[in-house]
Amino acid sequence: MTHAETLAFTTETSQLLNLMIHSLYSNREVFLRELVSNASDALDKLRFEGYREPALLDGGGELRIEVECDPVAHTVTVRDNGIGMSRQEVIANIGTIARSGTAEFMRALQEAQTQDARLIGQFGVGFYSAFIVADRVTLTTRRAGRPDDEGVRWQSAGEGEYTLEAVAAPRGTEIVLHLRDDAHEFADAWRLKSIIRTYSDHITFPVRMPAAKPDDATAAEPAWETVNQATALWARPRSEITQAEYDAFYQQLSYDSQPPLAQLHSRIEGTHEYTALLFVPSAEPFDLWDRERRHGVRLYVKRVFIMDDAAHLLPAYLRFVRGVIDADDLPLNVSREILQGSKTVDSIRAGVTRRVLGLLEDMAREEPEKYLRFWGLFGRVLKEGVVEDHANRERIAGLLRFSSTRQTEPAVSLADYVARMKDGQKAIYYLTADSVAAAAASPHLEALRARDVEVLLLGDRIDEWLVGSLPQFDGKPLQSVAKADLKLDELPPAQNAPPAVDDADWASTLSALQTALADVVEAVRLSDRLTESAACLVAGSHAMSGTLERLLKSAGQALPANKRVLEINPRHALLARVKAGADAEHIDDWARLLYEQALLAEGGQLEQPAQFVQRMNRLLLGG
Ligand code: ADP
Ligand code: MG
Repeated sequence: MTHAETLAFTTETSQLLNLMIHSLYSNREVFLRELVSNASDALDKLRFEGYREPALLDGGGELRIEVECDPVAHTVTVRDNGIGMSRQEVIANIGTIARSGTAEFMRALQEAQTQDARLIGQFGVGFYSAFIVADRVTLTTRRAGRPDDEGVRWQSAGEGEYTLEAVAAPRGTEIVLHLRDDAHEFADAWRLKSIIRTYSDHITFPVRMPAAKPDDATAAEPAWETVNQATALWARPRSEITQAEYDAFYQQLSYDSQPPLAQLHSRIEGTHEYTALLFVPSAEPFDLWDRERRHGVRLYVKRVFIMDDAAHLLPAYLRFVRGVIDADDLPLNVSREILQGSKTVDSIRAGVTRRVLGLLEDMAREEPEKYLRFWGLFGRVLKEGVVEDHANRERIAGLLRFSSTRQTEPAVSLADYVARMKDGQKAIYYLTADSVAAAAASPHLEALRARDVEVLLLGDRIDEWLVGSLPQFDGKPLQSVAKADLKLDELPPAQNAPPAVDDADWASTLSALQTALADVVEAVRLSDRLTESAACLVAGSHAMSGTLERLLKSAGQALPANKRVLEINPRHALLARVKAGADAEHIDDWARLLYEQALLAEGGQLEQPAQFVQRMNRLLLGG
């Protein structure tokens, strides 16, 4: 018999355990879901590796999970005959937390002030939930393919250290929980069975418990009964599945505590045959913006689990979708590398993408309120599709929703916009800014407001790229109202059209301003778009908008000089002052001030704010 060796948890693991044990009080029963889910993963892995190396499956009988309890000793045992772990794997997987979700989880625990243990599963730290109910955990495991005596026993009280010991063990993993005094209630077969039915009904392997013995029990009676459904839900006909079953399946898969917003279940037959059971969540997953996220769509081949988060099965802009794709035509030994170049996968992805877009289109048409909820959650992600997916661009464009000068809530579709365009209006007008509120306050809108023409207000970071990839919708070009080439004469005339201005009258003022601002603007000219503001900056048709310039700068990009055109409003009182003093000593100050206020009004930042203040004070005092 070898001696047990004592090892220390990594600091992060200790902190996590401590936090978890002391802060999660409600729904403590999820520990069982986590352990059963790990057992099921271990069986999946064994079955998968077994296709390449059949000897791994030798002995051990049917793949299954067993759950037992002892009300006298206050223990709960979860056992599987899956892949098991080697000594190194135990240290790496159980003694260390090297996962990206950990830090997120600790933050969520501290910030959300939640005591709900159901949080755990999302973050990939499920094993440790054992310590919510146990003050000592014994894990005995042997890796498939290793000799009988190469088992490992791991034990810990969850307080900074654990012991490891070499033992003889059957293939797979057995976990014994020694329940805390306040958790003895879990050593109850009836209770455990009901927890399994709630959380683990759709695990594809049987979960067995010792059968309750009738009074006149004889030895011939079967010792174990299967307590879960143990079938692949997606393989059953739709008509036989209740919504409650779909919801439970989704929740098991995604660890979401709410039912999904929408689902799609179809069997596709044709060149490639596959089944897709996909869900749109009703809450934003914490890792939506994490490129290395772990949860997503699971790939099965003929009911055999192949891999989690198979990125190639759906485009990145649908990464909020959760679910299962079960393909008939892929080899069972498929790897991520093979998936990447596979024609079958390309065709499945194209088909599934069309179906998800169809699901969203149906929702938008039949349940517009629900669709707006979807849009609020995942709209920013879906927008990436306009940039990335050329083949489906028109369809995705149809799903977009925007705020506009008519409606602050982001509920305006491009089709709505087109339907209420003015007579003679040829383009779909939009304005990008750092936020919708900033766009709504921009001087660029004044001329359009005066003509009662609706303008879409775009305030997400992605919007610049979105409009850059969407030259037109329904035959109507998209046109920025912050561009120099805005053609107002195509539009209906403004109400209370302002009196005409004599251009010649302004020639010397314009040239004085132009000289003063030669280093920052391309030209200065009279504006017919401003009604209230004194000045604004517009981009030449090939120059960058101010929003894009700011975005690129904040991303650390070095930019070529991007000079725009300064438009001034000749009817503004400030300009009358400037004109009267065009040759005077303050013309430089006036020119800068006009330029800087145009920059501020569109949400930009001044390069030299202190000089702006000095200049303004000089003008206030001097004038
Ligand atoms: P996750 O399941 O999200 O990876 P867990 O904390 O639940 O996170 O488990 C950590 C790791 O421990 C697993 O990824 C797996 O490698 C290993 N593990 C846990 N339980 C088992 C088991 N029953 N059989 C084999 N490996 C296991
Ligand atoms: Mg787990």
